[in-house]
Amino acid sequence: MLRRTLIGVVAGTALVLPLTATTATAAPAAAPAVLATTLTYDDSQAAEFKQAVADGANVWNTNVQNVRIVKAQPGQRANIRIVADNGWPRATLGPVRPGGQVTIWFGRQAVQQGYHLVRIAAHEMGHSLGLPDVKPGPCSSLMSGSTGGVSCTSVNPNASEKSRVERNYAGTAQQQSSDVVLSDAAF
Ligand SMILES: [Zn+2]
Repeated sequence: MLRRTLIGVVAGTALVLPLTATTATAAPAAAPAVLATTLTYDDSQAAEFKQAVADGANVWNTNVQNVRIVKAQPGQRANIRIVADNGWPRATLGPVRPGGQVTIWFGRQAVQQGYHLVRIAAHEMGHSLGLPDVKPGPCSSLMSGSTGGVSCTSVNPNASEKSRVERNYAGTAQQQSSDVVLSDAAF
């Protein structure tokens, strides 16, 4: 191939054009792929909530197409940092982009009151992905948070929450994560 290409260059464009056509035939254009944004999370400070964090990431990975949340490699600077502490859960409002970083504080105060672990994780990741709280709201809404009730075990985003995240990561959105921290204290 290299030799033919060189000959083509020497001989002029007449030979180059057939070579181009041959190449195009040999490698037909694939259908446009949907390129998801991949975000990483760091659970090294998530203490006893590592499994809930993994389950929360899986909730989003099974509900939306345009963004994926995967565990960071050890030492890698992650996009979503999860920190267990003794306050109420809270999180930086995204949408976080690759190269950016937001924090989720996995507050034990909500856990001690009986709120569902994976719902907490998925809710706070919703903030990372740019969703604000929708309070008060029903259990069927992930972003209703604590107002969905302490007995609420629904972990999935509803249709409008899913579509908003899809828009946030549709590829044309430029909105960046903010310095705003949303607190999920229940009273
Ligand atoms: Zn919230």
